[in-house]
Amino acid sequence: MPVPTVAQPTLSIVGRSDKFPVRRIYLVGRNYLEHIREMGEADERDPPFFFQKPTDALVADGRVPYPAFTDDFQYEFELVIAIGQAASDLSPDEALGCVYGYGVGLDMTRRDRQREAFKRGLPWEIGKSFDHSSPCGPIHPVSLCGHKLTGSLELSVNGVVRQRSVLEKMIWNVPEIISQLSRQYRLMPGDLIYTGTPDGVSAVVPGDRLVGTVEGLEPLVVDILPPLLPNAAAR
Ligand code: MN
Repeated sequence: MPVPTVAQPTLSIVGRSDKFPVRRIYLVGRNYLEHIREMGEADERDPPFFFQKPTDALVADGRVPYPAFTDDFQYEFELVIAIGQAASDLSPDEALGCVYGYGVGLDMTRRDRQREAFKRGLPWEIGKSFDHSSPCGPIHPVSLCGHKLTGSLELSVNGVVRQRSVLEKMIWNVPEIISQLSRQYRLMPGDLIYTGTPDGVSAVVPGDRLVGTVEGLEPLVVDILPPLLPNAAAR
């Protein structure tokens, strides 16, 4: 058997022909008050926290097969930060200096499995860190779009608006997220940070089309496809 080759996941870069190589995918949990309230599982005073998805969970072509092992496959629409240089232990004032650009992404979630893990005090991977769980649109360099500290974000499903908020409603804003994460991990070029979702999350099924927009960035279009694997939920 030959030594296998493994593809480097990448995203398109707006205005360039070369690709943005993705190293790690970090995500913020609980970063909009209304979403904490709709989930009903956290103390509103708890600080946001970070988790990760595997890099090969990235979906760059908008095609997301319905996953195995769930009956409650939900979207969470989020602004995504793309890191362009190594950084650790940054203050919020220093934090924006390591940002290459921004994109829009979906933190797809097996909500039934996430809730079970939460109730039993188990890790979240089964609910969050599965194949095709990280769709992301093209990266916009800061030189094109500036820093995304304000502006609207909106997700529609089959043409109906389901999530609508503004970036100003983040509990931790972009510089604070980067500062906090840089104290927990050494940030490196190619890292993505999903910044948390506003309220309005719900389930999707094969055939659904999701369109997410953040003001000033190209929209993300995602189609939910039939399952690749038998949908055997853990019951
Ligand atoms: Mn999320």
